[in-house]
Amino acid sequence: MKPFDALIIGAGPAGSFAAELLAKGGAKVALFDGRPEGTPKACGGGVTAKALKAWPQLLNAAGRTISDLDLYSPSGKKLHLALDEPFAIYSRVVFDSYLRDRARDAGAQIISEKISARKAKRVDQGWRLQNDNGSEWTGAILAGADGANSGIAKMLAGPLPPSDMEVAFGYRAPLPASEIAPTVVAFLPRWIGYAWAFPRPDHISFGIATTQDAFEHEPLDDLLWRFMVGYYQQCEGAKVRFWGDEKETNDAIRVRKHLNDTAERYAARIPGLSAKTWDNRKVCGDDWALLGDAAGFADPVTGEGIYYALRSAELFAEAYLNGNPQTYETRWREDFGGDLSRAAQMRRRFYGNFWGAPFTERMIEFARGHRGVKRVLGDLVAGEQGYVDLKKKLMKSAFRPV
Ligand SMILES: Cc1cc2nc3c(=O)[nH]c(=O)nc-3n(C[C@H](O)[C@H](O)[C@H](O)COP(=O)(O)OP(=O)(O)OC[C@H]3O[C@@H](n4cnc5c(N)ncnc54)[C@H](O)[C@@H]3O)c2cc1C
Repeated sequence: MKPFDALIIGAGPAGSFAAELLAKGGAKVALFDGRPEGTPKACGGGVTAKALKAWPQLLNAAGRTISDLDLYSPSGKKLHLALDEPFAIYSRVVFDSYLRDRARDAGAQIISEKISARKAKRVDQGWRLQNDNGSEWTGAILAGADGANSGIAKMLAGPLPPSDMEVAFGYRAPLPASEIAPTVVAFLPRWIGYAWAFPRPDHISFGIATTQDAFEHEPLDDLLWRFMVGYYQQCEGAKVRFWGDEKETNDAIRVRKHLNDTAERYAARIPGLSAKTWDNRKVCGDDWALLGDAAGFADPVTGEGIYYALRSAELFAEAYLNGNPQTYETRWREDFGGDLSRAAQMRRRFYGNFWGAPFTERMIEFARGHRGVKRVLGDLVAGEQGYVDLKKKLMKSAFRPV
């Protein structure tokens, strides 16, 4: 078989978008993925307004548009944000299939195969990949877009320390019968991270994201269950404490039982690179590149990675089609590297203390009393407010007269 120009391993958002752009630019592309059709990637599926503006075609994938968000402080104080710029929530089966179909329509060859890094070998003119049955594909450049546990990244850029990983787990559960289903982000009491409830067209994604270092399975799972039970009770109009009541009422027991019968658990890792790793890690060479989660491109504070998966695919495709794939390294650093590195420096502070209480508690308290701070938070959710000047903006807004 005639060799491919590009071999891309992983057809998540990063791999599929890179395949689409490269194929549109005239490259012969093979896109590999071993995930059985219809199996969702563990993910909240939230796509920021910034991403929707950059790639409006994403709105053609069936999702849910969110223009209101309830933020909760660790102690349970609520801040309702009416978003100037709505974001979208997708089922990852729908979102990934949409992007994969676009890659196919652009001319990329989609190959339903899992490719282990051990079976990727350098040859004279680039790379040779093999599957377990001995089928072979060759190509000039290899792109690893195989997600947070990327074998290709381990082979080409070295393994990441466990402290550079975050953990997220949760449940896919039915929509409440009341059809009231608010979108919620709640900062955790005592732990780094947050819980979410993201309603999608046909179910709700609940989850908790925290650092691998701080991960304690039992108490966090217990917290998430209290959050979920409290959420359904609130949807039904009950007045319950936000993280659920200490002693479960009969009503809470009924909701818990229903969830036990219907909710489907998932867990996965998200990259959360330290500032030092951002400085030192190289994600491309003459004939290889890493994209999206495989490169470590997720926000270390929020775990948001879909924007970076798509943007890294775009920057890589541009560099490749301009005939100089190596410039991808400088392009991503200039484009979003500063913000991700700043987010890594901010992570401890964001989830640390500020004036005698968690910073997230203070931030929500300030925003409840101050329109300017609330606006900055809205911009942060929209993806339009970076971390580089977040503190300055928050302070400026907090001390500007209302
Ligand atoms: C629980 C959870 C919630 C999240 N919520 C959000 C959110 O709400 N918003 C947001 O922006 N981000 C969120 N993220 C992060 C987001 O999911 C990732 O950043 C994003 O999916 C990265 O895209 P990707 O294409 O780089 O990798 P992935 O989406 O992981 O895609 C990698 C693909 O590679 C395939 N693959 C892996 N190994 C191989 C192999 N050996 N051979 C062939 N194929 C292979 C996989 O099947 C997969 O399809 C969340 C993550 C988790 C874990």
